[in-house]
Amino acid sequence: MPIPFIQRQGKPLEQRFREDDPTRLRLKYEPYYHTFHRKEGSRVWRGDREYIMLASNDYLGLGDHPKVIEAGKAALEQWGSGTTGARLANGSRSFHVELEEELADFLGKEACHVSSAGYLSCMSAVASYARRGDVIFVDKNSHSSLWSGIQASGATYEKFSHNNPEDLRHLLSTEKREVPKIIVIEGVYSMEGHIAKLPEIAALAEEFDAFLVMDDAHGFGVLGENGRGTAEHFDLPDGADAVCGSFSKSLGGTGGFVAASQNAIEYLRSHSKQTIFSAALSPVATACAKAALGLMKEEPEHRRRLWENRRRYKAILDELDLDFWDSETPAMPIVLGDKEKVYFFWKALLEKGIFTVISVAPAVPPGKDLIRTAISAKHTERDIEQIAAAFAYAKTKI
Ligand code: PMP
Repeated sequence: MPIPFIQRQGKPLEQRFREDDPTRLRLKYEPYYHTFHRKEGSRVWRGDREYIMLASNDYLGLGDHPKVIEAGKAALEQWGSGTTGARLANGSRSFHVELEEELADFLGKEACHVSSAGYLSCMSAVASYARRGDVIFVDKNSHSSLWSGIQASGATYEKFSHNNPEDLRHLLSTEKREVPKIIVIEGVYSMEGHIAKLPEIAALAEEFDAFLVMDDAHGFGVLGENGRGTAEHFDLPDGADAVCGSFSKSLGGTGGFVAASQNAIEYLRSHSKQTIFSAALSPVATACAKAALGLMKEEPEHRRRLWENRRRYKAILDELDLDFWDSETPAMPIVLGDKEKVYFFWKALLEKGIFTVISVAPAVPPGKDLIRTAISAKHTERDIEQIAAAFAYAKTKI
């Protein structure tokens, strides 16, 4: 029975939703969650306005390759839309096993496990292996999926300064020898485009008997002679004990993987909540990833074009004296240093038909507020000319 003389305030959570600053600001300035109505090559349409997409991670442009589309259609016809359950409970399908064998072989690992998002795979690569009593040493700029894995694991953690093996050494050497240790890094840092100092970090992992987990979502397909990623870039096939990543970047699809020794993958299958309690990767997503992986191996021209485009894009940024945080890869941040500049730069690019994404503190370190961009093999000569003109214009607006 409601008490009539007490003014009800409503549910506290409803009030929280209404008064939340990030949500209020997002709805006011509309920097995120845009809806596109059409996509063709490197271009997207919002209503009848056309943009060059410079914010996606479709590095090789394989997502709409005819062979990928054909493979997806065939899988849909053969298997239907979903897997309707977790593999532990209602079984793997032969397409999961085939993709896992192919990925393991490609990455030079004994085994692989795929799941329905890179986020789940990367979270799982930490959460399944680490447990209470272990110590995790994590690069402070690591992706949210890895932090979620750390939090879920119950292990304690120490942050080391970004891509800094000396700091990592210092932290490792202050820990007791017998404590199980895990080092967590990215192969290519998604926001900064920096390549991990894998040779030094892998040597530390050996010296201190630490298990090294590397999220290579942005290195896979991009780095190395054959696109095998950061480990191939350094010619260190066993550099990391576990490599995790996503199908949503170079493969242009959806899903994720962890590749490691047979023992480590079987252990993950016994302990990964992200696997045990979540429906398996769909038939279409698996078939598309497999077809794109095949193309990655058979058509190296996509990677060559990616790096050629990256060279031209970098020249534009150099010419305009824009700070791209010493990125060494096609993931190129434009560091502008404060929120207002970022907003006006981003708006000016939109005005000129270039779609990018804003990333401001706390998502990036203070003073590093930036626009994140990624160049792709899909960008044409005409796109790159339009990008150059738009950036020159945007620079006059800050
Ligand atoms: N790790 C890194 C480094 C990423 O950038 C991303 C995607 N932003 C993920 C993991 C998650 O991948 P997915 O989008 O497939 O969930």
